[in-house]
Order: sequence, then C-alpha cells, then structure tokens
Amino acid sequence: MEEKNGLIIVHTGNGKGKTTAALGLAMRAWGDGLRVLILQFIKGGWKYGEIETIKKLGAIDGRIELRRLGKGFQRNTDDKAEHIEAAKEALKEAGKAFESGNYDLIILDEINYAVKFELITVEDVKALLAKRPAELHVVLTGRDAKEEIIDMADLVTEMKLIKHPYQKGIKAQKGIEF
Ligand code: ATP
Ligand code: MG
Repeated sequence: MEEKNGLIIVHTGNGKGKTTAALGLAMRAWGDGLRVLILQFIKGGWKYGEIETIKKLGAIDGRIELRRLGKGFQRNTDDKAEHIEAAKEALKEAGKAFESGNYDLIILDEINYAVKFELITVEDVKALLAKRPAELHVVLTGRDAKEEIIDMADLVTEMKLIKHPYQKGIKAQKGIEF
C-alpha cells in the first residue's frame, strides 16, 4: 500500500446526498484538525443550514470557510455570457486557493454542473486540479460528472435515486433540504 496522498473525490448521480456527503467530509476533516475550504460554483445550491454551521465552526479557529465564487451561477440562466465570465473569475479564485497551500481539503460544490452547462470545460477543471499540492484532498460534486473527471478521480460515489419525497409532492424540509 502507498502512503497517503491527496485524493480526488467525486460525488455524482441523481440521488440526493452529493453536497451533504461533501459537508460530512468537511465536518470530519475539521474535527481531525484539517484546514477546509468549500467553494460554491452554482448559486442556489447552498442553503442556510450549512452556511450557519460553517460560520460558527470557522469562528472557533478559522480552519473552515465557505465561499460563493464569482457572482454565483444559476442553473437555468438565459444570460450565459455573464455566467461564463463569472465562472472564469471563479476558476481564478479557486486556482489561488489551490496554490496557496492553506488548505488540506477543498470542496468544489456543483462544479460538475458548471461543466455540464458549459460555463467551464473539463480542461479548466484538469488545469485547476494540476495546481493542487500533492497532499490536498479535493471533492467535486454535482450530477453528470464527465467521464474524464471520473477517470482522474481516486474515489467516485454515485448517489442513486431510489425515492425522493419530491416525487410525492412533499415540499422541501428545513434541515434536510436547506
Ligand atoms: P443535497 O444538497 O441535499 O446533498 P445533492 O447535492 O445531492 O443534494 P443537487 O443536485 O445539488 O443534489 O440538488 C440540490 C437540491 O435538489 C437539494 O435541495 C436536494 O435535496 C434536491 N434534490 C437532490 N436530489 C433530488 C432528487 N432526486 N429529486 C428531487 N430533488 C432532489
Ligand atoms: Mg449539491
């Protein structure tokens, strides 16, 4: 067995749990003394619960932070050019965080979505990952992760939809969905 190295982790699939699993890792990592950064690629993905939690944990020792990148991106936008511009800014900011050496775990929430909607390319993601220090763990979340990203990853989990309350018309529940 090899010594530990930074892992590339992907959470994809249609079932619920991709972001919450990433947040679970953030919680574990923070508890283990790691420095954690959560970067949001699509606006609207983040709900109040986790923002409050991370603010409070971050206030304890500054080792965990959540940032919305660029202007934040909407999933269904008709002004794509503006969002592509924002996505480029976001990549730059993410790149700085990768190169800084200030983190042990970086979560790129919904980055797979940003690729899917062609706000950024797989090559952009590869270039970003190439900037990471060898010990940095990276989590990429979002449905429909591209094959090339899956190929690069060390750990890939597909959330499989079996049932979701939404299918029965049950509205989003506080603390579970947001
Ligand atoms: P979560 O943030 O709850 O872990 P996720 O990251 O797996 O969800 P996303 O694709 O980011 O899922 O979707 C964001 C929102 O859509 C969340 O509020 C989530 O609960 C909801 N959602 C996720 N999967 C489904 C589904 N299969 N059907 C309906 N809504 C879903
Ligand atoms: Mg999500």
